[in-house]
Amino acid sequence: METVIVNMRDGIEEAGMRRAGEILRRGGLVAFPTETVYGLGADALDEEAAGKIYQAKGRPSDNPLIVHIADWDAIEKIAVDIPPEAKLLSDAFWPGPLTMILKRSDAVPLATTGGLDTVAVRLPNHEIARALIRAGGGYVAAPSANTSGRPSPTKAEHVVRDMDGVIDMIIDGGDVRIGIESTIVDLTEGAPTILRPGYVSREMLEKVLGRVEIDRALLAEDENIRPKAPGMRYRHYAPKAPLVIVEGPAQRVRERINALSEENAADGRVTGVIGTDESQGYYRNALVKSIGSRADERSIARHLYGILREFDDSEVSVIYSESFDTPQMGQAIMNRLIKAAGHQIIDVNE
Ligand code: AMP
Ligand code: MG
Repeated sequence: METVIVNMRDGIEEAGMRRAGEILRRGGLVAFPTETVYGLGADALDEEAAGKIYQAKGRPSDNPLIVHIADWDAIEKIAVDIPPEAKLLSDAFWPGPLTMILKRSDAVPLATTGGLDTVAVRLPNHEIARALIRAGGGYVAAPSANTSGRPSPTKAEHVVRDMDGVIDMIIDGGDVRIGIESTIVDLTEGAPTILRPGYVSREMLEKVLGRVEIDRALLAEDENIRPKAPGMRYRHYAPKAPLVIVEGPAQRVRERINALSEENAADGRVTGVIGTDESQGYYRNALVKSIGSRADERSIARHLYGILREFDDSEVSVIYSESFDTPQMGQAIMNRLIKAAGHQIIDVNE
């Protein structure tokens, strides 16, 4: 299949958008930018179209898709028994990086929800995304536009790398603003519960809803507790080279990483280091990449996936990363990083 790549970095291009809408309406696949990561879209109400997403990504069929809408009113067609909390969250955070789990209506095929009786809904804060949703009929199922097991794409080049020749169209809207997938909050049973941490933090949700729980599996050291969001159960991305997080006071972290890099260099092995703008000058004997500035946690979130992809293109035999427990997005960032590291952490606190 030939994949059409449409450049909309400088704004929406009408003819391209019409064509993208037609592709979705006849059951095809279009990748598009959102504020979180690039999505791989199909008509959410078309069983066959949704099925194509799983094929293109190599995604397990029990891992449900998020349905993207462009207007609050659209929610009534796809969800039933919508609780008042949904409207409160919508008023506070939509359009934005928050996904709500609600009870599914019969309009949504089981292919879209991975066989579940619930549906995930999000209204993205990105002009291209909303224009595409409207052009495509109003309901676009879209997981991240990466091959399953690769980091989520944060620029169109990442999507091209994974999806060229596999899908109908890629809309290039430039780099995303947030870089980490949406916060998922379940409103279908008991107290509102965070199933996946993201840009919208627990504190932000609690300001609107009062008490908000966190899925126990996200906090547990025990990897055997099953997360409620099926996608959080899969071993996510692991870089080609082993990734190890080094945690503790900044100075000790730098010393330990330098000591390890020196040992590796003596053995003829190349070490990769994920540091920050503030720390990168301290590292020796390693291929050092800065993830962003500690003074700007958004820069750290935005570059996380891109930096992991970059290391896969280099010949490092191990990667050490600092820990990024930043105020608002720290939990979301560390959730992704710890998964990528397969829980390998060196603690230099003592
Ligand atoms: P992605 O769009 O690739 O970020 O993946 C979507 C995420 O949303 C996955 O972790 C899914 O498991 C989760 N998700 C989607 N629908 C539901 C649902 N109905 N209940 C729980 N989790 C969901
Ligand atoms: Mg994903």
